[in-house]
Amino acid sequence: MPEPVLELADVRYRYPTGAEALRGVTFAVQPGEHVALAGPNGAGKSTLVLAMAGFVSAAGTIRVAGHTLTPGSARDVRRHLGLVFQDADDQLFMPRVADDVAFGPATMGLEPEEVRARVGEALAAVGLEGYEDREPYHLSVGEKRRAALATVLAMRPQILVLDEPSADLDPRGRRMLIDLLRPMTSTLMVITHDLDLVVETCRRVVVLDAGAVVADGPVREVLSDRALVEAHGLEVPLRLAQGAPDMQGT
Ligand code: ADP
Repeated sequence: MPEPVLELADVRYRYPTGAEALRGVTFAVQPGEHVALAGPNGAGKSTLVLAMAGFVSAAGTIRVAGHTLTPGSARDVRRHLGLVFQDADDQLFMPRVADDVAFGPATMGLEPEEVRARVGEALAAVGLEGYEDREPYHLSVGEKRRAALATVLAMRPQILVLDEPSADLDPRGRRMLIDLLRPMTSTLMVITHDLDLVVETCRRVVVLDAGAVVADGPVREVLSDRALVEAHGLEVPLRLAQGAPDMQGT
């Protein structure tokens, strides 16, 4: 087996207010895997992302692309972890789409020619060719979400972490997102409670509840277990209830 691109071992975190958000989370992600992190509100999903990026200092071990996260290494580790926030406005702040996408590669110290190449490549990957001069502020929600994804892709992270990528999207925007994520060869972690999105974009799902992993396995197996999903505040996704094909095409 190749080395995992993400390793979490007994990750624990308690907010200063006393809330025990992570109570010993352990799982690993292999290169190229599409893994969903699902769970009800308050399960600890956002806290886990904050911990993985070193924004909160959790106990236990976190390794990203072979680098162990420590307070001193957080900046380096974040280079390998491409975080796409739920609110695209957190990621888009330049006057032109191309400037936003160029920002990350430029701060990595890449040559202007390489930066330009990466901007073109990332915009093409999200279906936004020709959007270079558009103002991010005036894009639709779906276009903004894809532009935000491009800003992260341009840095070629080892693992892409998408926080609620389908939130606020209309059916067409959601479909475009699924068509974009599904064939991606990069390692993906999709954080969501849109379980139908999980069925269409991921092969594996980790279910988190009350700060602990309560299930980890193939999407069809885990999410069609009605007793399990309902015990953790979720519902069997419609696609599975109706017998529609999943990522495995079964
Ligand atoms: P999720 O993303 O799955 O909805 P969170 O990680 O946001 O879950 O929350 C996990 C737990 O930590 C919850 O009990 C929540 O109330 C608590 N929590 C989240 N953010 C904070 C914070 N900034 N301060 C104190 N407690 C928090």
